[in-house]
Amino acid sequence: MATQFLANEHETLDVGAQFASLLKPGWVIFLHGDLGAGKTTLVRGLLRGLGFAGRVKSPTYTLVESYNASSLYLYHFDLYRFKHEQEWLEAGFDEIFNGTNICLVEWPERAAKLLPNADIHIHLDMEGDGRRVTIVTENTDVARALADCFGPQT
Ligand code: ADP
Ligand code: MG
Repeated sequence: MATQFLANEHETLDVGAQFASLLKPGWVIFLHGDLGAGKTTLVRGLLRGLGFAGRVKSPTYTLVESYNASSLYLYHFDLYRFKHEQEWLEAGFDEIFNGTNICLVEWPERAAKLLPNADIHIHLDMEGDGRRVTIVTENTDVARALADCFGPQT
């Protein structure tokens, strides 16, 4: 587990960009946190880190936005608007989790158990005027890379 205080939007973008260098095809990443916690901002930083120069908009209304950057295929979901977890299957989103695409999911709890397990959980919490990011993974390779990237932490 790695945790870090992010004083402003820039620092959230920077963490996203640093995290980008760790990404591997097929990863499933859940983004946890309230509205306005910085989930989309972190994904924006991540895509910038991969060299994606275009606009990264929140998938609040479209539910998913896809990107091809740095030889990776990324899908950024926002399930906030789901009323029933069944909508996940109706939308056919399960096919996108194919072991190659990198899937980043905001509000994964809205599709609950229908989602595959995540390789990485990123938690964002408001802390004063800033945010705290906590990255949790059970994958030992990822944990080691996180420690290299963010420094040893408990
Ligand atoms: P979410 O996707 O979690 O709803 P957003 O990424 O859209 O949240 O961010 C909401 C707001 O939080 C944006 O205005 C963004 O600039 C701001 N923000 C992001 N990171 C930080 C931070 N570390 N400190 C203060 N504000 C931040
Ligand atoms: Mg968002």
